[in-house]
Amino acid sequence: MRKLIHGIVDFRERLAPQYHETFAQLALGQKPDVLFVGCSDSRVVPNLFASTEPGDLFVIRNVGNLVAPCDAQGDEANIFDRSEAAAIEYAIEILAVADIVVCGHSECGATIALLDEKRQLSPNLKSWLRHGKAAVERLKSGEHLDPTLPLHNQLSQINVLQQIEHLRTYPVIQNAIAQKRLRLHAWYFNIGSAEVETFDPIAEKFMPIDRAMAERLLTAMGEDAFDQKRTGIVPWQYDVENKNQAINADSKTYGAHCCLVHNKKDV
Ligand SMILES: [Zn+2]
Repeated sequence: MRKLIHGIVDFRERLAPQYHETFAQLALGQKPDVLFVGCSDSRVVPNLFASTEPGDLFVIRNVGNLVAPCDAQGDEANIFDRSEAAAIEYAIEILAVADIVVCGHSECGATIALLDEKRQLSPNLKSWLRHGKAAVERLKSGEHLDPTLPLHNQLSQINVLQQIEHLRTYPVIQNAIAQKRLRLHAWYFNIGSAEVETFDPIAEKFMPIDRAMAERLLTAMGEDAFDQKRTGIVPWQYDVENKNQAINADSKTYGAHCCLVHNKKDV
């Protein structure tokens, strides 16, 4: 805690003046491009590894970067975690994010716990981790993206793909994808190598996002390059112009502190 308090003073005295303009703008409203779903783990640092600025990421963090699914499409009574569902709906419907990243990581305590069937877990932790059970089943049934990894890290990678599937159970996400205004991305942060990897649907494994991969991703985002059925992940078929038009159409509702109210009225 001592380090945290010193850090606040350091920010106030040294960094805040540099960010004065940025935060003055952000006080008028936020328009992040990305919903980032990550683990609560202290070593997962998206602002650092993706070099993001304030206002860039809308973030959900929880133990295991899990997405509690809906068990019946369109029936909101069957969403298993209201706080997470609310954040997803807010990101899609109000902020109109264009991309969702689910980011797992190596040495994740959640996947280690999921693999240790004898381990006694506290009730809420045990209940929450059930959303990772489907990934465990995938691993047990022989899905191995990278057999060279320790088992818990293999599970972390499969778990990212599974949580993407859970995202797809949300009606708001199904609608956004159908309207080609949303892409889903599977990432994995290797803590030991400080490497961010993305699921490569051609190699069928996670690959580092180096300069060459970044170019591939960016090119594909504009060229519909990947096959949705093959990957199980919404590919980069997204029409950038659609998004730009949507932003222009909604521009009246952003930049105002009360954008939620405006958008609610619009809906
Ligand atoms: Zn974790």
